Amino acid sequence: MKTVGLLGGMSWESTVGYYQLINQRVKEKLGGLNSAQIVLYSVNFDPIEKLQHQGDWVSTAEILSDAAKKIESAGADFLLICTNTMHKVYDEISSSIGIPILHIADATAESLKAKGIKKVGLLGTKFTMEEEFYKNRLDTLHGIAVIVPNELDREIIHKVIYNELCLGEVKADSKREYLRVVSSLSEEGADAVILGCTEIGLLISQNDTQVPLVDTTKIHAELAVEKMI
Ligand code: GLU
Repeated sequence: MKTVGLLGGMSWESTVGYYQLINQRVKEKLGGLNSAQIVLYSVNFDPIEKLQHQGDWVSTAEILSDAAKKIESAGADFLLICTNTMHKVYDEISSSIGIPILHIADATAESLKAKGIKKVGLLGTKFTMEEEFYKNRLDTLHGIAVIVPNELDREIIHKVIYNELCLGEVKADSKREYLRVVSSLSEEGADAVILGCTEIGLLISQNDTQVPLVDTTKIHAELAVEKMI
């Protein structure tokens, strides 16, 4: 079994999910007492969140590259960055280490292509929904068209992530709002909606809607296990 490195803590609420999903999947595949070989580095999210909102991505890249180097020297064979947003500095992190990174948007795109989905709605932080680093990867590299919520709804989605989900708070009102936005993306022609933030699965799941949901945390974790075994 290969050892997966997890660059987590963004937020720790979703990193728990990665740890659990990867171990569960290894157990399903190998049975008995088999469990996942994991090197986990969990950062303090508070300074990173401040730097994000100040637009100081250079400093976030330095912090994460430093953590990634520690994960590599602890013996990981490949790395997952356990957040969609911080793939904004994927290139910087990638060039600072010798092991490959399994890009969360590539993992998601492979899953969409396997299901024949060509047009998706994207939910995530404003960085993920509004900037090019994520949408471009899906579109240009994988040929998947991406639509995002309107400005007001992007604001709602973003605030719920940082003010509630990253603090482990799951509120009924926010769930309703998310499901309303999911429906409107579907009405605008999305074949599925990407939960493009690793905490959104804490709030909504496939049981809540007829619209196909694509949970990036699950897909990322599952593909990691494919690569491990
Ligand atoms: N976990 C989130 C994501 O997947 C948001 C937290 C962050 O800004 O990294 O984008």
